[in-house]
Amino acid sequence: SYDECYIRSVIRAVPDWPEPGVMFRDIAPLFQDPKALHCVIDAFSQRYIDADISHIAALDARGFLLGSILSYKLNLPLILIRKKGKLPGDTLTEEYQLEYGSACVEVHTDACKEGDKVLLIDDLIATGGSLLAASTLLRKLGAEITEAAAIIDLPFLHGSSKIQEAGIPVHTLIAY
Ligand code: 5GP
Repeated sequence: SYDECYIRSVIRAVPDWPEPGVMFRDIAPLFQDPKALHCVIDAFSQRYIDADISHIAALDARGFLLGSILSYKLNLPLILIRKKGKLPGDTLTEEYQLEYGSACVEVHTDACKEGDKVLLIDDLIATGGSLLAASTLLRKLGAEITEAAAIIDLPFLHGSSKIQEAGIPVHTLIAY
């Protein structure tokens, strides 16, 4: 579609970053172009406007940029899934494996509860590790994950299929 082409045109490919052999998909230019940001937010809000969702959960940090606008547009509470050590008070932590080493995500224990229906959002799905760890956290709090959404999918890394295998539908706008 026109919108898909337009969004694709504002994603910058940065070769060999953050390490040799990696093609980083940089979404910064999308935020420099209000028309492109409108395309992205409109695509998500049209999809979820009448959906059976009680909360949006956004991943630190680029997911926050999308999640906060979307929660405002859809008038839904926003859950912040943060990197380790950022949240004060009572939290749940989930560790997950990276290519080298591991990472941790955290959420406030009062962020959601049994019966809540949560849409997860981030900018990009690579291995799927971040979104799967986030969904584990929210499921531990009793929530149901209705869908995981991102602007970009990298299907050659099989993250979106792993997320679907965990019983979570995936919706992305473009793929590389
Ligand atoms: P995953 O956990 O799926 O392996 O990696 C996805 C996470 O890493 C997302 O939070 C995303 O922001 C970040 N990430 C990994 N690769 C890229 C990339 O090429 N571009 C952007 N914008 N983010 C990436």
